Amino acid sequence: MVGVGRMVRVKGVQDGSIAEELGIVPGTELVSVNGRELADFLDWEFLTADDELVIEARLPDGEAIIYEIERPEGESMGVELEPPTIRRCANRCEFCFIEGLPKGLRKPLYVRDDDYRLSFAYGNFATLSNLKDRDIARILEYRLSPLYISVHATPWEARKVLLNNPKVPNIVEQLNKLAGGGIQFHGQMVIVPGLNDGEVLEESFRDLWALDEAVLSVAIVPVGLTQFSHLYPGKSMDRANATTLLETVDRWADRARAERGHAWVYGSDELYLLAERPLPDADYYSDFPQIENGVGAVAALRMRVREGLSSLPRLDGRRIGVVTGVSMKGIMPELLDQLSSATGALFQMIVVENSLFGPTTTTAGLLVGADIRGALADRHDLDLALIPAECINDNGVFLDDEPFITMREQLTMPVYPSYDFIDVLVHEGEPRVAGVAA
Ligand code: SF4
Repeated sequence: MVGVGRMVRVKGVQDGSIAEELGIVPGTELVSVNGRELADFLDWEFLTADDELVIEARLPDGEAIIYEIERPEGESMGVELEPPTIRRCANRCEFCFIEGLPKGLRKPLYVRDDDYRLSFAYGNFATLSNLKDRDIARILEYRLSPLYISVHATPWEARKVLLNNPKVPNIVEQLNKLAGGGIQFHGQMVIVPGLNDGEVLEESFRDLWALDEAVLSVAIVPVGLTQFSHLYPGKSMDRANATTLLETVDRWADRARAERGHAWVYGSDELYLLAERPLPDADYYSDFPQIENGVGAVAALRMRVREGLSSLPRLDGRRIGVVTGVSMKGIMPELLDQLSSATGALFQMIVVENSLFGPTTTTAGLLVGADIRGALADRHDLDLALIPAECINDNGVFLDDEPFITMREQLTMPVYPSYDFIDVLVHEGEPRVAGVAA
């Protein structure tokens, strides 16, 4: 008899897949695999890795069914599951970016997820504060590695204060259990001056260093407070704090390079910009372990531009606007000069302030549709405009819920989202197809 407890529901089935052959359709509830109940996508992924499977399911019309199959090696089941219920975080961090969000943004932005499953599957950072013993057992059994962990501080008392959560578990014990089971992780520490810099940071580095190969990389990220942040009343990050932090990072990175062959700890790009220090070259970042976290993104951009210049067509005399955030003001001219020399086009940097989050939010990737539209509205002198692609999500919507397509229709020049200029400019020598945007 098919159980009635936990299950996962099918969202889609691939054509020609095993699931389709079995008659699994969207809406089917998958209840167990080889006698083990399914709680989420992880159970499904890992339990169906066996070749011989007994799958209990319930079809959308309520019919209970048991499939006994032998799965050919390497062939996937072809099932897409409905997204899991996301685990919410139990903290109220001093620096929480979500707490600092204004109203009216894309709804998913307000979800405070803290979910080790998403950490493994998508590289989302998790604090592990809501981890139960059974979760740790599961991480070890399924070997969910590497994880992305928001460590912030290892001294227990400091972490309780930072996360505003007196019940937060001792992360050193948690990390030791994970490391003991062969789990590796990338860590991040968002530094709030006065709370987890200085001796707390030193102790945190010592604890993480002691975990040896379990710690793949550590990112040091300065706290970013928007004009809406209201929890943390203390000091914000300034040039002096950023400089001191980078000195600490350098000391540990030197040690790591000497003893372990790679830098191990990295300051985020923003930290270098705040300290007004030159950003390291691409080879500093090994394989860019935390580029999604803003660590080495500028170096990677410089590298992609350098390597892409020879592929660009001549664009003599074209006037191209490049929209960016305040933090890139000092970085951009050198890149635009190179693009100009390679193509003959005239590039103009258009620095846009973030009216929604406030002047302290200077990252290009957080620019909102309204600000970009405002900056380009009267620029009839431009033949083309490039905007940061990071501002737009997979559904083509800016953070302020403005669809890119709406903005593009309101502007007179062609506008393209671009990650590294090359991705768009390489096509500019080609004849335009009406209505097709990059
Ligand atoms: S863990 Fe902290 S920063 Fe992350 S969502 Fe929760 S309160 Fe915000």
